Amino acid sequence: MVFVVKIGGGKGINVNNVLEDLASYKDFVLVHGGSDETNQISEKLGKPPKFVTSISGHTSRYTDRETLDIFSMVYAGKINVNIVAKLQSLGVDAVGLTGVDGRLLEGFRKDTIKIIEGSKRKVLRDDFTGKIEKVNIGLLNLLMSNGYVPVVTVPAISYEGEPINADGDRAAAAIAAALKAEDLIILSNVPGLLKDVNDPNSLITEIPKARIGEFMDVAQDRMKKKVMGAQEALEQGIKRVIFSSANIDKPVTSARSGYGTHIQ
Ligand code: ADP
Repeated sequence: MVFVVKIGGGKGINVNNVLEDLASYKDFVLVHGGSDETNQISEKLGKPPKFVTSISGHTSRYTDRETLDIFSMVYAGKINVNIVAKLQSLGVDAVGLTGVDGRLLEGFRKDTIKIIEGSKRKVLRDDFTGKIEKVNIGLLNLLMSNGYVPVVTVPAISYEGEPINADGDRAAAAIAAALKAEDLIILSNVPGLLKDVNDPNSLITEIPKARIGEFMDVAQDRMKKKVMGAQEALEQGIKRVIFSSANIDKPVTSARSGYGTHIQ
């Protein structure tokens, strides 16, 4: 059975620690993020990141055309290449793909985004953000049945053929659901879903699948996307979603054997 691992792109994530553990597995798809590095490189390029809050309360990166290019350069050109190279050095025959390749992750570009800025409402029309609706599993199966490990990153592609920024956790959830994966393991810089985000000892270890909706308010800001991704994957038949830390010893093996927050 295949499993899907998502490595976050937040501050302080030990990516190599995850890759070293993954080298002992075969049938998996790796999805990665890159938000912190994108922020740093955007600053260096003189285009500091800008985040907007939609009227429904979700925060996302404002992705105009120039930001989209920086985003693609960092996620695909830097992080994906380095992860694939590291896996190759560990003996894993990894192949890097963005959601644009072979229309791997396809969805719609939001034509407008309604945001709140201070007390004012605004409509953005130059934003390249969207939602993934389709996964080209034929392409993933083609690679995996020939012994390759797909290493996937956003951008995704719109139906019109534009690269679009989409959430990495929800991309991983869509891939896991499409592949009918055994597990979706989401690794980040926290031990899992915490009752109190400031208290690492407040880990929620088990959530029954039917009660996931109740935990949406426990998750703040970016963690909300992970809970939404988990909910989407579980609704589409994935048996188990795990939120765990990338920074513990053997993070994938530990997560699969009980560490972190298990939703099933
Ligand atoms: P990544 O980019 O690594 O995928 P994010 O930074 O998007 O991860 O999400 C993880 C972050 O979510 C944590 O570092 C933490 O600050 C924040 N967070 C908010 N609410 C919670 C919560 N209830 N439990 C755990 N983390 C939370």
